Amino acid sequence: MVRQELGSLFHNDNWALLRTNGTQLCREGQSPLVWKFCPKTKRMKIHEYQAKAILEKYAVAVPKGEVANTLEEALDVAKRLFSGGAKGVVVKAQIHAGGRGKGGGVKVAKTLEEAEEYTKKILGMQLVTHQTGPQGQKVQRLLIEETAPIARELYLGIVLDRATAKLVFMASQAGGMEIEEVAAKDPDAIFKAYIDPAVGFQPYQARKLAFALGLKPAQINEAVKFMTGLYKVFLETDASLLEINPFITTTDDRLLALDCKINFDDNAIFRHKELKELRDTAEEDPLEVEASKYALNYIKLDGNIACMVNGAGLAMATMDIIQYAGGSPANFLDVGGGANQQQIEHAFEILLSDQNVQAVFINIFGGILRVDTLAHGVVEAAKKTNVQVPVVLRLEGTNVEQGREILKNSGLNFIIGETMQDAAAKVVQAAKEKAATKK
Ligand code: GDP
Ligand code: MN
Repeated sequence: MVRQELGSLFHNDNWALLRTNGTQLCREGQSPLVWKFCPKTKRMKIHEYQAKAILEKYAVAVPKGEVANTLEEALDVAKRLFSGGAKGVVVKAQIHAGGRGKGGGVKVAKTLEEAEEYTKKILGMQLVTHQTGPQGQKVQRLLIEETAPIARELYLGIVLDRATAKLVFMASQAGGMEIEEVAAKDPDAIFKAYIDPAVGFQPYQARKLAFALGLKPAQINEAVKFMTGLYKVFLETDASLLEINPFITTTDDRLLALDCKINFDDNAIFRHKELKELRDTAEEDPLEVEASKYALNYIKLDGNIACMVNGAGLAMATMDIIQYAGGSPANFLDVGGGANQQQIEHAFEILLSDQNVQAVFINIFGGILRVDTLAHGVVEAAKKTNVQVPVVLRLEGTNVEQGREILKNSGLNFIIGETMQDAAAKVVQAAKEKAATKK
């Protein structure tokens, strides 16, 4: 199961969100079944080096460094840093996952030779961290940075707290470790400042956090500037999460963002052309990338029943009812309100390319997307892809009779559910039988 987002620490009852183009469904107080299936909000992630470039624009201090895609580039950067007076360089894997340090993706090199050795080791490796899953993520880029003389490792973060409908600025002395762990074991170790949207993050709040971090008096003003800069970054980029872990003090009393993670709210990304370009599809699930090309909302889950649905609300209900019937959804695929035949075909192909899928459940309420259009798309796609798993449909709405007629006359073996419950029961049964024949 995908790890839940940090934001959920603050609202365990309603953390499950799924976003479709422009709609956000908050499942506050609803069936716990749904939460299990929806631990992943749609948010655009970027690399640490990109996040740090944004911080620099806001005058938030980061170590000197550059991104490198090859061994040659990495050595160039390292040479430059050493000849600029660096005592060491740190070689950092750039992947869209945390926990790189523990996984062996962050190494400090004292010499150019060491930098070469670590670059060779890390670049191209399959880096496994607690966030990548056991298959890991291939490292295609490195950040080469001047090392900082660390005095203390602290934590700063900003997330939206949905319970209070406010941004919350968090600070902790337990930097460098997983904040989820800190929150679970010792929640009092995280200091929080809730931000009133009408007045924004106030200097007194920053000072309070800075004192709570046990910073020296001489560092307080600098820390206030630092935190205010982070808040500005968050607001102006429409971020959904911003974390500096670790936020460090140096032995010569400077403050630096040693690591930085920023996620953006997908629903606002249209306002930020420059951010959109930071997307690195090599880091994303290939099927999710494929789906986004055709404006389909696809999220991979870990069950075996593929779902094609129109509308996020219906998708939620569909996942619930599959679970009630004793099954488990393989994905969330929302073709949207006004899908055309091509989109339906692509959607079908995407569903079937997931190896875990034992049965397909198509649950459509025909509105703008008429049921006959859908039926045409499904028939075409089923023929093209030579579908080998049972397909169960539950169709209602505009042109439903024509739609059913098309399916019937297709010569293909579709299973029709009379109601949602009936269809769910049928698809769960079909998936079970299919799975049994494979064994
Ligand atoms: P993460 O494991 O993916 O969160 O990657 P980080 O960027 O947070 O790096 C992990 C750890 O490596 C940090 O907590 C630091 O302890 C260490 N580290 C990172 N950069 C430096 C550096 O410049 N100097 C030293 N000495 N340690 C560093
Ligand atoms: Mn970190």
